[in-house]
Amino acid sequence: MDSSSQPSRSPELSIVIPAFNEQGNLQELYSVLEPVLSECAVTWEIIFADDGSRDDTWHEVEQLHRRDDRVKGVRLSRNFGHQYALMAGLVQARGDAVISMDADLQHPPAMIPELIEQWRLGSKVVHTKRLDPQNISWFKKWSSNLFYAIFTHLSGVPMESGMADFRLLDRQVLDEILHFREEGLFLRGIVQWIGYERSTLTYQCQERFSGISKYTLRKMIKFAWTGITSFSVIPLRLGIYIGILTSILAFAEMAYAIFMRLFTNTVVPGWASGIAIVSFLFGILFILLGLIGEYIGRILVEVRRRPRYLVSERIE
Ligand code: UDP
Ligand code: MG
Repeated sequence: MDSSSQPSRSPELSIVIPAFNEQGNLQELYSVLEPVLSECAVTWEIIFADDGSRDDTWHEVEQLHRRDDRVKGVRLSRNFGHQYALMAGLVQARGDAVISMDADLQHPPAMIPELIEQWRLGSKVVHTKRLDPQNISWFKKWSSNLFYAIFTHLSGVPMESGMADFRLLDRQVLDEILHFREEGLFLRGIVQWIGYERSTLTYQCQERFSGISKYTLRKMIKFAWTGITSFSVIPLRLGIYIGILTSILAFAEMAYAIFMRLFTNTVVPGWASGIAIVSFLFGILFILLGLIGEYIGRILVEVRRRPRYLVSERIE
């Protein structure tokens, strides 16, 4: 009823772009996006989600909006993190399909027509997979492969390295995702988890246009940890496995010591080895205790039900 009375109000396509200190990229991104989108024969909007930038990012958004009112924005009250900025943009998006992409031009806008085509062919989710550029650091490649292997193993949600937050979501899928109220937000996991018809396109990752990566190692580790703890409780069982194993070993060792004492003339010596084993086990014990603490912390954060991010300004 709403949509039939105002058919021209909602655009068909929303592009959502989280941006944290990306002042040097927005003008360029717009000037590359605009012609691509105009050729796609869809009505569109671009939503920049400013993640509490400390540079002129928001000013750039305002300027772009003055030039072209299809450019919109949402500004978070501080830096909440990429996933939350992305969520804020998704909430504001009005399109029948939404494409999310980074602000630094690493996700090529030239791919957009292909994403739309897959959507028109019936995919509710169109993923993209990055073909690693030659110059990507071995550490980033290795750590990302390792993370996704662990994640897939623990969560049962298949995920591959190189599938970042550059994708198209159909309105139906997006509306489902907007119901996910978890604080530990790991959108790429959620998008894999939900199912629906999907397809995957590959692309060559570009160089960042301006500035440096906004994902520090600390942010990356936090992000990975959020992903694992919000998708799997298997790490909590680690204690049980280690406990069973060490009990068996301890039992065998005890039997050996008793046997030696009763049936031979030697007594198993072992002050130093005893201390070593005890310290080792205490180490493991504290690690497991910390792990349990992490999960309890996550429960605390989840039950508090605070808003996940706060918005200070909107351009709609
Ligand atoms: N980003 C954000 N908030 C943050 C960190 C990053 O909104 O706290 C945005 C950033 O502006 C970019 C995207 O997330 O549009 C991906 O970040 P970046 O390009 O720095 O990561 P990388 O490509 O190096 O992994
Ligand atoms: Mg980037």
